[in-house]
Amino acid sequence: MANPGEVVEVLLPVALERTYSYRVPFGNTLMPGDVVRVTLGPREVVGVVWDGDGVLPASSNRLKYVEERLDIPPLGAEMRRFIEWVANWTLTPRGMIMRMALRAPELPPEKQRLGYRLGKHEPERLTAARRRVLDHLSDGFVHEKRALIEATGVSPSVVDGLVDAGVVEPLALPPEPVAGTPDLAFGSASLNEAQALAAASLCQAVAARRFSATLLEGVTGSGKTEVYFEAVAEAVRQGGQALIMLPEIALTNQFLDRFAERFGVRPAEWHSGVSANKRARLWHGIAKGEVAVVAGARSALFLPFVDLRLIIVDEEHDSAYKQEDGPRYNARDMAVVRARLIDAPVVLASATPSIESRVNADRGRYGHITLPQRFGGRALPAIATVDMREGGPERGKFIAPSLVSAVRETLAAGEQALLFLNRRGYAPLTLCRKCGHRFQCPNCTAWLVEHRFRKSLVCHHCGHTAPVPRHCPSCEGEDTLTPCGPGVERIAEEVSGLFPDAHTVILSSDIHGSAERLRQELDSVARGEANLVIGTQLVAKGHNFPHLTLVGVVDADLGLGTGDPRAAERTFQLLGQVTGRAGRGERPGRALLQSYDPSHPVMQALVSGDKESFYAREIAVRAKAGLPPYGRMAALTISDEDRGKAEGFARQLAKLAPFDAALRVLGPAEAPIAVIRGRHRMRLILQAPRDFALQDYIRAWLAAGPKVTGQLAVDIDIDPMSF
Ligand code: ADP
Ligand code: ZN
Repeated sequence: MANPGEVVEVLLPVALERTYSYRVPFGNTLMPGDVVRVTLGPREVVGVVWDGDGVLPASSNRLKYVEERLDIPPLGAEMRRFIEWVANWTLTPRGMIMRMALRAPELPPEKQRLGYRLGKHEPERLTAARRRVLDHLSDGFVHEKRALIEATGVSPSVVDGLVDAGVVEPLALPPEPVAGTPDLAFGSASLNEAQALAAASLCQAVAARRFSATLLEGVTGSGKTEVYFEAVAEAVRQGGQALIMLPEIALTNQFLDRFAERFGVRPAEWHSGVSANKRARLWHGIAKGEVAVVAGARSALFLPFVDLRLIIVDEEHDSAYKQEDGPRYNARDMAVVRARLIDAPVVLASATPSIESRVNADRGRYGHITLPQRFGGRALPAIATVDMREGGPERGKFIAPSLVSAVRETLAAGEQALLFLNRRGYAPLTLCRKCGHRFQCPNCTAWLVEHRFRKSLVCHHCGHTAPVPRHCPSCEGEDTLTPCGPGVERIAEEVSGLFPDAHTVILSSDIHGSAERLRQELDSVARGEANLVIGTQLVAKGHNFPHLTLVGVVDADLGLGTGDPRAAERTFQLLGQVTGRAGRGERPGRALLQSYDPSHPVMQALVSGDKESFYAREIAVRAKAGLPPYGRMAALTISDEDRGKAEGFARQLAKLAPFDAALRVLGPAEAPIAVIRGRHRMRLILQAPRDFALQDYIRAWLAAGPKVTGQLAVDIDIDPMSF
């Protein structure tokens, strides 16, 4: 505790490692974790009193005072340690991580809620409207104004008139709770044997109140959600809090509804789509321990839980957990760290776990619970390949005859079909047939993608948009521009020719405008309103489409040709997810994978259902090459608007790399996308053994390296998703 006049260290949301010293103002005491407002040069900023080293700075008599302590729950010691940990791991200044934990500081003023009940006086004059109000209040309960007006259909002035006459008595209601209280007995599930065993084991982990990590690996539709709900119930039963992380929470109502079926209320939601006001109230509710369960995106990991007893990471393999701008952290990995720091269990759930988590489970570092069967005796979809070399469609078309007939049969049976292609827009490349001109983004090394709905050419890296010209800008040829390859919009066009009577819907992030519209669209697919769905990867994740019985993958090879060591794993996961959408309802499902390489191990594993040999093979490849998790990697991207500067810096940095026999520095080379938003990008890749202190090495290296000047930036990615 620091008393008036004493000095405290304050961590500020700036990109510097240091803390700043301030004096405690008179009449105040400050503790580490307190949220304070201070001035930094000409600016006022909000910071957090940090654990100082107690050493008075030399210039202590010229120190400024803290302006005020804000009325915000302090960041607890555990949270401060977590912030330090993430900062250290991602090589990000602590203040920038602290900023993520202070996303919703000051509480907005409570909206006044008014309630009414019958007053003492008899009415002198009774109109029909007044009568309705009095009838409604005759039950003796207090009714909220808005509900009263809605129920009676009267105008607010009628109620006000009754209040003035003393017939109705107004009273202030306590604020509405920011989240409902889960009712543990609301819809207790009857679990099958495997599920019950799994649930019991997770509940035990919660009851133990110790750190443990468990991989909950269950095939699609095995009821992983039902199982981990029981662990959530256990955490709440003990009076604690639980966090459920989901990769696409903003897109799905289904999860919230299922939670409500089990617990009687929806969980508190935390993601960028939630209003700032609501987020502030939630943040405070969580910090006061009033909110029991939060379902959130990766940023929920930085919420100020006071008694967190369980973290669930659903679809733990999902690359959406990796934040790719700002501090590059993998929320799955940081969830394990937070669980360790607070000594609580973490559950990683997936049908197709990451290689990292599988290796951890195989080695006994994580517990491993498997649900090998779908719930209710439902079969996994039968998966087959369509060999596009022999059975492919005619030129300029993308759906093979055998897939066309499968769709036809499905629609005729009154069922739903999904055509999956992980590519937005109409065509990935537009080209002039006469002169070969291609449309390239002026800011990026990328082709512009034609979007017919938006009638424009769009860069998927910087968002640059241009109209689709009628003439080739290079040779002025008329009607010579040709789309090359398909995107979902082009598939929709082909499908509308093949099945003009089908009720078709395209699910792609850029078509529906808002996440809310997309949510509604996904709900309508779940209700079976559309019978032919065309979608990008956002349809693959977690949804339950009970009417869906056929999944056609338009280009199963799409993610494989990249040379990325994780390509096979990622493709297996994505295709496993999307094919797993089929046959989750009453009727069995099937899936067809269009491929030019049907003998590829990924296709073979999906068709045979032999997941184990696929994992065994992938793990062996990683082990042999010393790739993660058998080795550590980091990617350094050096970018500058001036190509020469970026390249010069990268070369010099590479030259100055301290020698270490265990470490390999690859590059510099141009990054896979050499220019983004006008910035030239060079990359250095580091590869080291598992036990190598990679962060320490990089810190020392950068400190000894060339000075970062101008707008040059060095971006560090520990455990990059692609390399
Ligand atoms: P997963 O997450 O493993 O893909 P889900 O938890 O979504 O599986 O379950 C798949 C479907 O089976 C859901 O519709 C779910 O409601 C249903 N289900 C799973 N377990 C049970 C159970 N014990 N009782 C009733 N329905 C269940
Ligand atoms: Zn661009």
